[in-house]
Amino acid sequence: MVPFLCNHPRPVRKQRGRRIRGSTALKIAPCVPASEGRCQGCGNRTRTSQGVALSLTQFSRPLLLFLSPPPPSPPFSYLEQARVAWERDRLHQLCLLLLIFSRFAHSTAHNSFKMDVVLEVCDTFLFDYMYQWVLPARPAPSGLTSQTFANGTSMSTWQYKPATEYLYLTPSQAAYGSLWARDNIWRQGVSLFLILWIFGFLVYFVFASLSYLFVFDKKTFEHPKFLKNQIWLEIKQANEAMPIMALCTAPLLVAEVRGYGFLYDTLDEAPWPWWNWFQIPLFLFFTDFGIYWIHRGLHHPWVYKHLHKPHHKWIMPTPFASHAFHPLDGYAQSLPYHIFPFIFPLQKVAYVALFVFINFWTIMIHDGEYIANNPIINGAACHSIHHLAFNYNYGQYFTLWDRIGGSYRAPEQEMFQKEVKMSEEHWKKEVEVMEQIQLEVEGEDDREYEPEMETKKRQ
Ligand SMILES: [Zn+2]
Ligand SMILES: [Zn+2]
Repeated sequence: MVPFLCNHPRPVRKQRGRRIRGSTALKIAPCVPASEGRCQGCGNRTRTSQGVALSLTQFSRPLLLFLSPPPPSPPFSYLEQARVAWERDRLHQLCLLLLIFSRFAHSTAHNSFKMDVVLEVCDTFLFDYMYQWVLPARPAPSGLTSQTFANGTSMSTWQYKPATEYLYLTPSQAAYGSLWARDNIWRQGVSLFLILWIFGFLVYFVFASLSYLFVFDKKTFEHPKFLKNQIWLEIKQANEAMPIMALCTAPLLVAEVRGYGFLYDTLDEAPWPWWNWFQIPLFLFFTDFGIYWIHRGLHHPWVYKHLHKPHHKWIMPTPFASHAFHPLDGYAQSLPYHIFPFIFPLQKVAYVALFVFINFWTIMIHDGEYIANNPIINGAACHSIHHLAFNYNYGQYFTLWDRIGGSYRAPEQEMFQKEVKMSEEHWKKEVEVMEQIQLEVEGEDDREYEPEMETKKRQ
Protein backbone atom coordinates (compact mmCIF):
# COMPACT_ATOMS: atom_id res chain seq x y z
CA MET A 1 0.00 0.00 0.00
CA VAL A 2 1.27 3.46 -0.84
CA PRO A 3 1.41 5.42 2.40
CA PHE A 4 -0.52 8.67 2.48
CA LEU A 5 1.55 11.85 2.41
CA CYS A 6 0.61 14.42 4.96
CA ASN A 7 1.19 17.98 3.83
CA HIS A 8 0.14 19.87 6.90
CA PRO A 9 2.18 22.73 8.25
CA ARG A 10 3.26 21.51 11.62
CA PRO A 11 4.03 23.65 14.67
CA VAL A 12 7.46 23.20 16.19
CA ARG A 13 7.94 23.35 19.92
CA LYS A 14 10.54 25.46 21.64
CA GLN A 15 12.74 23.92 24.31
CA ARG A 16 10.62 25.33 27.15
CA GLY A 17 7.55 23.79 25.59
CA ARG A 18 6.01 27.06 24.31
CA ARG A 19 4.62 26.96 20.77
CA ILE A 20 6.15 29.31 18.24
CA ARG A 21 3.62 31.20 16.16
CA GLY A 22 4.03 32.47 12.59
CA SER A 23 5.22 31.01 9.33
CA THR A 24 8.83 30.57 10.45
CA ALA A 25 7.64 28.03 12.97
CA LEU A 26 5.78 25.95 10.39
CA LYS A 27 7.32 22.80 9.13
CA ILE A 28 6.16 20.18 6.65
CA ALA A 29 5.34 16.97 8.45
CA PRO A 30 7.07 13.91 7.02
CA CYS A 31 5.20 11.10 5.33
CA VAL A 32 3.13 9.20 7.84
CA PRO A 33 0.65 6.48 6.94
CA ALA A 34 -2.81 7.89 7.56
CA SER A 35 -5.37 6.17 9.73
CA GLU A 36 -9.07 7.08 9.57
CA GLY A 37 -8.39 10.24 7.57
CA ARG A 38 -6.07 11.69 10.19
CA CYS A 39 -2.37 12.27 9.95
CA GLN A 40 -0.40 10.45 12.61
CA GLY A 41 2.24 13.15 12.54
CA CYS A 42 0.13 16.19 13.44
CA GLY A 43 -3.27 14.69 14.15
CA ASN A 44 -5.01 16.98 11.64
CA ARG A 45 -7.54 15.82 9.10
CA THR A 46 -5.89 15.05 5.77
CA ARG A 47 -5.55 17.60 2.98
CA THR A 48 -6.85 20.70 4.69
CA SER A 49 -5.43 23.96 3.50
CA GLN A 50 -5.00 26.30 6.42
CA GLY A 51 -3.42 29.69 5.90
CA VAL A 52 0.30 29.70 5.60
CA ALA A 53 2.33 32.73 4.59
CA LEU A 54 2.98 32.49 0.85
CA SER A 55 6.40 33.47 -0.40
CA LEU A 56 7.25 34.13 -4.03
CA THR A 57 9.61 31.20 -4.06
CA GLN A 58 6.84 28.88 -2.98
CA PHE A 59 4.60 30.30 -5.67
CA SER A 60 7.14 29.94 -8.44
CA ARG A 61 8.25 26.47 -7.48
CA PRO A 62 5.47 24.54 -9.26
CA LEU A 63 6.14 26.57 -12.40
CA LEU A 64 9.84 25.79 -12.14
CA LEU A 65 9.05 22.14 -11.70
CA PHE A 66 6.85 22.28 -14.76
CA LEU A 67 9.58 23.77 -16.93
CA SER A 68 12.58 21.98 -15.47
CA PRO A 69 13.72 18.56 -16.70
CA PRO A 70 12.24 15.47 -14.99
CA PRO A 71 13.75 14.62 -11.60
CA PRO A 72 16.69 12.23 -11.55
CA SER A 73 16.12 8.71 -10.39
CA PRO A 74 15.44 7.69 -7.67
CA PRO A 75 12.32 9.92 -7.75
CA PHE A 76 11.45 12.55 -5.16
CA SER A 77 11.56 11.51 -1.58
CA TYR A 78 8.20 11.39 0.19
CA LEU A 79 9.12 14.59 1.97
CA GLU A 80 9.80 16.28 -1.37
CA GLN A 81 6.50 15.00 -2.80
CA ALA A 82 4.68 16.36 0.21
CA ARG A 83 6.32 19.73 -0.26
CA VAL A 84 5.39 19.88 -3.95
CA ALA A 85 1.77 18.98 -3.20
CA TRP A 86 1.64 21.66 -0.52
CA GLU A 87 3.05 24.29 -2.87
CA ARG A 88 0.66 23.30 -5.65
CA ASP A 89 -2.24 23.91 -3.25
CA ARG A 90 -0.86 27.36 -2.51
CA LEU A 91 -0.69 28.14 -6.25
CA HIS A 92 -4.33 27.15 -6.67
CA GLN A 93 -5.29 29.33 -3.74
CA LEU A 94 -3.40 32.29 -5.14
CA CYS A 95 -5.11 31.93 -8.54
CA LEU A 96 -8.48 31.74 -6.82
CA LEU A 97 -7.72 34.81 -4.72
CA LEU A 98 -6.63 36.70 -7.84
CA LEU A 99 -9.88 35.77 -9.56
CA ILE A 100 -12.06 36.78 -6.60
CA PHE A 101 -10.11 40.03 -6.22
CA SER A 102 -10.48 40.93 -9.90
CA ARG A 103 -14.21 40.11 -9.84
CA PHE A 104 -14.68 42.27 -6.76
CA ALA A 105 -12.67 45.10 -8.28
CA HIS A 106 -14.76 44.86 -11.42
CA SER A 107 -18.07 44.86 -9.56
CA THR A 108 -17.14 48.21 -8.02
CA ALA A 109 -15.92 49.74 -11.30
CA HIS A 110 -18.33 51.37 -13.74
CA ASN A 111 -17.90 50.23 -17.27
CA SER A 112 -20.56 52.25 -19.00
CA PHE A 113 -18.43 53.41 -21.94
CA LYS A 114 -17.97 50.77 -24.55
CA MET A 115 -15.99 52.51 -27.22
CA ASP A 116 -12.31 53.07 -27.13
CA VAL A 117 -10.75 56.52 -27.18
CA VAL A 118 -8.19 55.89 -29.91
CA LEU A 119 -10.79 54.17 -32.06
CA GLU A 120 -13.13 57.15 -31.73
CA VAL A 121 -10.42 59.66 -32.67
CA CYS A 122 -9.48 57.57 -35.73
CA ASP A 123 -13.16 57.14 -36.69
CA THR A 124 -13.79 60.87 -36.54
CA PHE A 125 -10.81 61.95 -38.59
CA LEU A 126 -10.17 59.01 -40.89
CA PHE A 127 -12.25 55.85 -40.77
CA ASP A 128 -15.72 57.50 -41.14
CA TYR A 129 -14.63 58.85 -44.53
CA MET A 130 -12.86 55.64 -45.48
CA TYR A 131 -15.87 53.39 -44.76
CA GLN A 132 -18.27 55.84 -46.39
CA TRP A 133 -16.18 55.59 -49.54
CA VAL A 134 -15.56 51.83 -49.45
CA LEU A 135 -18.96 50.71 -48.12
CA PRO A 136 -21.49 53.53 -48.66
CA ALA A 137 -24.93 53.31 -47.02
CA ARG A 138 -27.75 52.06 -49.24
CA PRO A 139 -30.03 54.73 -50.78
CA ALA A 140 -33.32 55.40 -48.98
CA PRO A 141 -36.10 52.88 -49.83
CA SER A 142 -38.71 54.25 -52.24
CA GLY A 143 -41.85 55.64 -50.65
CA LEU A 144 -40.01 57.35 -47.83
CA THR A 145 -39.23 61.01 -48.01
CA SER A 146 -35.65 62.01 -48.41
CA GLN A 147 -36.15 64.07 -45.22
CA THR A 148 -36.19 60.87 -43.15
CA PHE A 149 -32.69 60.10 -44.33
CA ALA A 150 -31.46 63.63 -44.49
CA ASN A 151 -28.74 62.87 -41.99
CA GLY A 152 -28.81 59.13 -42.55
CA THR A 153 -29.32 58.40 -38.83
CA SER A 154 -32.41 56.31 -39.39
CA MET A 155 -30.36 53.85 -41.47
CA SER A 156 -28.47 52.82 -38.36
CA THR A 157 -29.30 52.21 -34.74
CA TRP A 158 -25.91 53.61 -33.76
CA GLN A 159 -25.91 56.81 -31.76
CA TYR A 160 -22.92 58.86 -30.76
CA LYS A 161 -21.76 58.45 -27.18
CA PRO A 162 -18.31 59.81 -26.34
CA ALA A 163 -15.70 57.19 -25.45
CA THR A 164 -14.37 59.38 -22.70
CA GLU A 165 -15.70 62.26 -20.64
CA TYR A 166 -12.48 64.11 -21.34
CA LEU A 167 -13.12 64.42 -25.08
CA TYR A 168 -16.22 65.20 -27.17
CA LEU A 169 -15.82 64.80 -30.92
CA THR A 170 -18.97 65.70 -32.82
CA PRO A 171 -19.32 63.13 -35.61
CA SER A 172 -19.51 64.42 -39.17
CA GLN A 173 -22.16 63.28 -41.71
CA ALA A 174 -19.67 60.66 -42.86
CA ALA A 175 -20.18 58.83 -39.55
CA TYR A 176 -23.69 57.90 -40.74
CA GLY A 177 -22.82 57.36 -44.38
CA SER A 178 -21.51 53.79 -44.35
CA LEU A 179 -23.17 50.40 -44.38
CA TRP A 180 -20.92 49.57 -41.46
CA ALA A 181 -21.85 51.86 -38.55
CA ARG A 182 -19.23 52.62 -35.92
CA ASP A 183 -20.51 49.87 -33.61
CA ASN A 184 -20.38 47.18 -36.33
CA ILE A 185 -18.14 44.37 -35.04
CA TRP A 186 -16.43 43.78 -38.42
CA ARG A 187 -15.72 47.47 -38.82
CA GLN A 188 -14.25 47.57 -35.31
CA GLY A 189 -12.09 44.55 -36.14
CA VAL A 190 -10.73 46.06 -39.36
CA SER A 191 -10.22 49.50 -37.76
CA LEU A 192 -8.38 48.09 -34.75
CA PHE A 193 -6.20 45.92 -36.99
CA LEU A 194 -5.24 49.04 -38.98
CA ILE A 195 -4.67 51.09 -35.80
CA LEU A 196 -2.45 48.41 -34.26
CA TRP A 197 -0.47 48.01 -37.44
CA ILE A 198 -0.05 51.70 -38.33
CA PHE A 199 0.27 52.99 -34.75
CA GLY A 200 2.67 50.16 -33.87
CA PHE A 201 4.71 50.87 -36.99
CA LEU A 202 4.90 54.60 -36.21
CA VAL A 203 5.96 54.04 -32.59
CA TYR A 204 8.56 51.48 -33.74
CA PHE A 205 9.92 53.57 -36.56
CA VAL A 206 10.04 56.92 -34.72
CA PHE A 207 11.52 55.63 -31.44
CA ALA A 208 13.90 53.15 -33.06
CA SER A 209 15.17 55.81 -35.48
CA LEU A 210 15.68 58.34 -32.68
CA SER A 211 17.44 55.75 -30.57
CA TYR A 212 19.59 54.70 -33.54
CA LEU A 213 20.55 58.30 -34.33
CA PHE A 214 21.19 59.60 -30.82
CA VAL A 215 21.90 56.62 -28.54
CA PHE A 216 23.17 53.60 -30.46
CA ASP A 217 26.95 53.36 -30.70
CA LYS A 218 27.85 52.92 -34.40
CA LYS A 219 31.12 51.23 -33.41
CA THR A 220 28.97 48.12 -32.92
CA PHE A 221 29.19 47.66 -36.74
CA GLU A 222 32.77 46.53 -36.20
CA HIS A 223 31.80 43.81 -33.74
CA PRO A 224 32.74 40.41 -35.22
CA LYS A 225 29.19 39.16 -34.65
CA PHE A 226 27.45 42.01 -36.45
CA LEU A 227 25.57 40.51 -39.41
CA LYS A 228 25.77 41.42 -43.06
CA ASN A 229 23.04 44.00 -43.87
CA GLN A 230 21.79 43.58 -40.31
CA ILE A 231 19.77 46.80 -40.00
CA TRP A 232 17.96 46.13 -43.26
CA LEU A 233 17.22 42.55 -42.16
CA GLU A 234 15.92 43.77 -38.78
CA ILE A 235 13.59 46.34 -40.37
CA LYS A 236 12.39 43.78 -42.92
CA GLN A 237 11.64 41.15 -40.28
CA ALA A 238 9.85 43.66 -38.03
CA ASN A 239 7.69 44.90 -40.89
CA GLU A 240 6.79 41.38 -41.98
CA ALA A 241 5.78 40.50 -38.42
CA MET A 242 3.77 43.61 -37.49
CA PRO A 243 0.68 43.12 -39.70
CA ILE A 244 0.34 39.46 -38.63
CA MET A 245 0.77 40.41 -34.97
CA ALA A 246 -1.88 43.13 -35.42
CA LEU A 247 -4.23 40.60 -37.04
CA CYS A 248 -3.86 38.18 -34.11
CA THR A 249 -4.27 40.95 -31.51
CA ALA A 250 -7.27 42.76 -33.08
CA PRO A 251 -9.89 40.25 -31.74
CA LEU A 252 -8.72 40.92 -28.17
CA LEU A 253 -9.08 44.67 -28.69
CA VAL A 254 -12.52 44.20 -30.24
CA ALA A 255 -13.57 42.37 -27.07
CA GLU A 256 -12.13 45.23 -25.00
CA VAL A 257 -13.89 48.03 -26.86
CA ARG A 258 -17.17 46.09 -26.76
CA GLY A 259 -17.00 46.15 -22.99
CA TYR A 260 -15.73 42.67 -22.13
CA GLY A 261 -12.58 44.02 -20.50
CA PHE A 262 -12.44 46.08 -17.31
CA LEU A 263 -11.35 49.35 -18.90
CA TYR A 264 -12.69 52.43 -17.16
CA ASP A 265 -12.77 56.10 -18.04
CA THR A 266 -12.65 58.84 -15.38
CA LEU A 267 -10.46 58.62 -12.30
CA ASP A 268 -13.46 58.42 -9.95
CA GLU A 269 -14.66 55.30 -11.77
CA ALA A 270 -11.73 53.36 -10.32
CA PRO A 271 -12.76 50.66 -7.84
CA TRP A 272 -10.80 52.51 -5.14
CA PRO A 273 -9.13 55.93 -5.32
CA TRP A 274 -5.66 54.40 -4.77
CA TRP A 275 -6.20 52.04 -7.71
CA ASN A 276 -5.48 54.89 -10.16
CA TRP A 277 -1.79 54.83 -9.29
CA PHE A 278 -1.56 51.24 -8.03
CA GLN A 279 -2.60 49.87 -11.45
CA ILE A 280 0.70 51.02 -13.01
CA PRO A 281 3.12 48.99 -10.81
CA LEU A 282 0.64 46.11 -10.83
CA PHE A 283 0.53 46.21 -14.64
CA LEU A 284 4.34 46.20 -14.86
CA PHE A 285 4.62 43.38 -12.30
CA PHE A 286 1.93 41.31 -14.07
CA THR A 287 3.33 41.76 -17.58
CA ASP A 288 6.90 41.13 -16.39
CA PHE A 289 5.76 37.88 -14.77
CA GLY A 290 3.84 36.83 -17.91
CA ILE A 291 6.58 37.75 -20.36
CA TYR A 292 9.23 35.98 -18.27
CA TRP A 293 7.44 32.64 -18.43
CA ILE A 294 6.35 33.00 -22.06
CA HIS A 295 9.87 34.01 -23.08
CA ARG A 296 11.34 31.15 -21.10
CA GLY A 297 8.87 28.78 -22.75
CA LEU A 298 9.95 30.11 -26.15
CA HIS A 299 13.49 28.98 -25.33
CA HIS A 300 12.35 25.39 -24.89
CA PRO A 301 14.15 23.33 -27.55
CA TRP A 302 10.83 22.19 -29.08
CA VAL A 303 9.73 25.77 -29.71
CA TYR A 304 12.94 27.78 -29.98
CA LYS A 305 13.97 26.87 -33.53
CA HIS A 306 10.51 27.47 -34.96
CA LEU A 307 9.42 30.64 -33.18
CA HIS A 308 12.12 32.43 -31.19
CA LYS A 309 15.29 31.86 -33.22
CA PRO A 310 14.50 34.74 -35.64
CA HIS A 311 14.83 37.22 -32.75
CA HIS A 312 18.10 35.64 -31.66
CA LYS A 313 19.57 36.04 -35.11
CA TRP A 314 20.86 39.37 -33.78
CA ILE A 315 23.83 38.72 -31.51
CA MET A 316 24.59 42.45 -31.35
CA PRO A 317 21.10 43.96 -31.79
CA THR A 318 20.40 47.52 -32.90
CA PRO A 319 17.24 49.43 -31.84
CA PHE A 320 15.57 48.14 -35.04
CA ALA A 321 15.85 44.57 -33.69
CA SER A 322 13.40 45.43 -30.89
CA HIS A 323 10.37 44.36 -32.95
CA ALA A 324 12.15 41.93 -35.28
CA PHE A 325 10.38 38.73 -34.20
CA HIS A 326 8.58 35.79 -35.69
CA PRO A 327 4.98 37.14 -35.67
CA LEU A 328 3.71 34.44 -33.29
CA ASP A 329 6.66 35.06 -30.97
CA GLY A 330 5.89 38.79 -30.84
CA TYR A 331 2.18 38.04 -30.35
CA ALA A 332 2.85 35.57 -27.54
CA GLN A 333 5.05 38.07 -25.70
CA SER A 334 2.45 40.82 -26.09
CA LEU A 335 -0.33 38.65 -24.62
CA PRO A 336 0.18 39.63 -20.94
CA TYR A 337 -0.31 43.27 -21.93
CA HIS A 338 -3.65 42.56 -23.62
CA ILE A 339 -4.83 40.04 -21.03
CA PHE A 340 -4.33 42.44 -18.11
CA PRO A 341 -7.53 44.53 -18.72
CA PHE A 342 -9.55 41.30 -18.81
CA ILE A 343 -8.43 40.54 -15.25
CA PHE A 344 -7.95 43.94 -13.60
CA PRO A 345 -9.58 47.37 -14.02
CA LEU A 346 -7.39 49.64 -16.13
CA GLN A 347 -7.83 53.31 -16.99
CA LYS A 348 -8.17 53.82 -20.75
CA VAL A 349 -5.60 56.55 -21.18
CA ALA A 350 -3.16 54.60 -18.98
CA TYR A 351 -3.68 51.62 -21.31
CA VAL A 352 -2.64 53.64 -24.37
CA ALA A 353 0.26 55.26 -22.48
CA LEU A 354 1.47 51.83 -21.35
CA PHE A 355 1.31 50.57 -24.95
CA VAL A 356 3.67 53.39 -25.97
CA PHE A 357 5.87 52.81 -22.89
CA ILE A 358 6.23 49.08 -23.60
CA ASN A 359 7.30 49.71 -27.18
CA PHE A 360 9.70 52.37 -25.98
CA TRP A 361 11.15 50.06 -23.33
CA THR A 362 11.58 47.21 -25.83
CA ILE A 363 13.60 49.55 -28.04
CA MET A 364 15.63 50.82 -25.04
CA ILE A 365 16.79 47.35 -24.00
CA HIS A 366 18.10 46.74 -27.53
CA ASP A 367 20.05 49.99 -27.97
CA GLY A 368 23.30 48.72 -26.44
CA GLU A 369 23.56 51.77 -24.15
CA TYR A 370 24.11 50.47 -20.63
CA ILE A 371 23.03 53.35 -18.43
CA ALA A 372 23.27 51.97 -14.91
CA ASN A 373 23.96 48.66 -13.25
CA ASN A 374 20.75 48.49 -11.28
CA PRO A 375 20.19 45.15 -9.51
CA ILE A 376 16.39 45.40 -9.86
CA ILE A 377 15.95 46.69 -13.42
CA ASN A 378 16.38 44.44 -16.45
CA GLY A 379 18.06 47.06 -18.64
CA ALA A 380 19.95 47.00 -21.92
CA ALA A 381 23.00 45.35 -20.32
CA CYS A 382 20.89 42.44 -19.04
CA HIS A 383 19.16 42.02 -22.40
CA SER A 384 22.49 42.15 -24.26
CA ILE A 385 23.57 39.21 -22.12
CA HIS A 386 20.37 37.46 -23.23
CA HIS A 387 21.30 37.95 -26.90
CA LEU A 388 24.89 36.83 -26.30
CA ALA A 389 24.33 33.96 -23.88
CA PHE A 390 20.76 32.90 -24.87
CA ASN A 391 19.52 31.14 -21.73
CA TYR A 392 19.82 33.99 -19.22
CA ASN A 393 17.84 37.13 -18.37
CA TYR A 394 14.46 36.35 -19.89
CA GLY A 395 12.73 39.21 -18.00
CA GLN A 396 11.40 42.43 -19.49
CA TYR A 397 11.50 45.16 -16.84
CA PHE A 398 12.81 43.56 -13.67
CA THR A 399 15.34 40.93 -12.66
CA LEU A 400 12.93 39.47 -10.08
CA TRP A 401 11.70 36.44 -12.02
CA ASP A 402 15.13 35.64 -13.38
CA ARG A 403 16.44 35.58 -9.83
CA ILE A 404 13.56 33.38 -8.67
CA GLY A 405 13.79 31.14 -11.73
CA GLY A 406 17.59 30.78 -11.42
CA SER A 407 18.26 32.34 -14.84
CA TYR A 408 19.71 35.65 -13.71
CA ARG A 409 23.16 36.62 -14.87
CA ALA A 410 24.41 39.95 -13.55
CA PRO A 411 26.21 42.22 -16.05
CA GLU A 412 29.93 42.49 -15.38
CA GLN A 413 31.20 45.85 -14.15
CA GLU A 414 33.32 46.31 -17.29
CA MET A 415 30.15 46.42 -19.42
CA PHE A 416 29.51 49.86 -17.94
CA GLN A 417 32.90 51.24 -18.92
CA LYS A 418 32.39 52.39 -22.47
CA GLU A 419 36.03 52.09 -23.60
CA VAL A 420 36.37 48.57 -22.23
CA LYS A 421 32.95 47.48 -23.50
CA MET A 422 33.75 48.51 -27.09
CA SER A 423 37.33 47.20 -27.08
CA GLU A 424 38.39 44.32 -29.31
CA GLU A 425 39.72 42.45 -26.31
CA HIS A 426 36.30 42.52 -24.65
CA TRP A 427 34.59 41.48 -27.88
CA LYS A 428 36.95 38.53 -28.20
CA LYS A 429 35.93 37.34 -24.76
CA GLU A 430 32.25 37.85 -25.60
CA VAL A 431 32.57 35.91 -28.86
CA GLU A 432 34.27 32.95 -27.15
CA VAL A 433 31.44 32.61 -24.64
CA MET A 434 28.75 33.24 -27.26
CA GLU A 435 30.09 30.65 -29.74
CA GLN A 436 30.19 27.95 -27.11
CA ILE A 437 26.61 28.55 -25.92
CA GLN A 438 25.33 29.12 -29.46
CA LEU A 439 26.64 25.70 -30.50
CA GLU A 440 24.85 24.06 -27.57
CA VAL A 441 21.56 25.88 -28.15
CA GLU A 442 21.33 26.04 -31.94
CA GLY A 443 23.94 23.72 -33.39
CA GLU A 444 25.81 24.94 -36.46
CA ASP A 445 25.71 28.73 -36.89
CA ASP A 446 23.86 29.72 -40.07
CA ARG A 447 24.24 33.50 -39.68
CA GLU A 448 26.04 35.51 -42.33
CA TYR A 449 28.39 38.02 -40.73
CA GLU A 450 29.64 41.33 -42.04
CA PRO A 451 32.77 40.61 -44.15
CA GLU A 452 35.90 42.18 -42.71
CA MET A 453 36.50 44.28 -45.82
CA GLU A 454 33.20 46.08 -45.47
CA THR A 455 33.79 46.58 -41.78
CA LYS A 456 37.12 48.25 -42.53
CA LYS A 457 35.52 50.51 -45.18
CA ARG A 458 33.18 51.96 -42.55
CA GLN A 459 36.08 53.09 -40.39
ZN1 LIG B 1 15.05 35.07 -26.07
ZN1 LIG C 1 15.78 40.95 -27.67
